[in-house]
Amino acid sequence: MTYDKNNIFAKILRGELPCKKVYENDFVLAFYDINPQKKIHVIVIPKGEYIDLDHFIQNAKDIEIIEFNKAILNIVKKLKISSKDNGYRVLSNIGIDGGQEVPHLHYHIFGGQNIGKMVV
Ligand code: 5GP
Repeated sequence: MTYDKNNIFAKILRGELPCKKVYENDFVLAFYDINPQKKIHVIVIPKGEYIDLDHFIQNAKDIEIIEFNKAILNIVKKLKISSKDNGYRVLSNIGIDGGQEVPHLHYHIFGGQNIGKMVV
């Protein structure tokens, strides 16, 4: 599978579609999900062209992998849902069985309320 440059998150990264930005640095963009499933629902994406977590881990530079994960902590601190607050959940859907809809790697961050069962 090759990366689809016309996926929705690629368009958001290029500024062709709007987003409600939460956090940005040289490697990462985070924005509110358009259809939130919980009180806080944020999408975190790397700026590089990676389809999913497997593709990312196999192809990204170490700095990209490190910065992507470090960004999570900065984002949850900013949202006041870190482990020092009430906590949160990180989830990434991968492939068909994972239910991935947008083929650009993303983590979902859920918080702001009790998230409930791990999988529904
Ligand atoms: P997936 O099922 O691929 O893990 O999740 C894709 C997520 O992207 C869904 O939660 C969906 O609501 C969100 N989404 C789809 N299109 C847009 C959009 O144009 N803007 C934003 N902010 N989120 C989107």
